[in-house]
Amino acid sequence: MDLETLKIDLKGLQEGLTTFEFDLDDAYFKAIEAPEVSQGSVHVSLRIVRTGDDFFTLDFSETGTVMVPCDVCLDPMEQSVETCQRLEAKFGNEYSEEDDLVTVAENEGILDVTWFVYEFIVLAIPVRHVHAPGKCNPAMIRMLEEHSAARSGEEGEAAVDSRWAALLKLKE
Ligand SMILES: [Zn+2]
Repeated sequence: MDLETLKIDLKGLQEGLTTFEFDLDDAYFKAIEAPEVSQGSVHVSLRIVRTGDDFFTLDFSETGTVMVPCDVCLDPMEQSVETCQRLEAKFGNEYSEEDDLVTVAENEGILDVTWFVYEFIVLAIPVRHVHAPGKCNPAMIRMLEEHSAARSGEEGEAAVDSRWAALLKLKE
């Protein structure tokens, strides 16, 4: 997709409702160098309401799937996401963000939502995400079990941490 389309020309919007549709694809996640997500396919529906006093309410509704590393075996896994988020925007002297209110420099009038749509996806990913039972990378599971057997008896927090460090190293 063309990232330029995610730069919304607020100044050019009519009063009332305007709707935008975007399809975030692998190229999008690659272009923004998304730290948590390697690939994905997410549909974004954006409804913007502009009032007469130049106040904007933006409702984002996002649904789709993203590839994220499994918590257990670190292989990519497909995670479905579904989220609705609201932003509000107004014009001012320069760009700033405060909670969910964005101030857009009035002389430009452009709100770039490239990162907002990504942040909303990340917020929608469950804290714990693992493959369906039996779908984890068997080689990683075997190594995990061997490490854990070798370390039984010193199963403190530090032992777990060093085990993960070892696994991450193997993964590289
Ligand atoms: Zn897994």
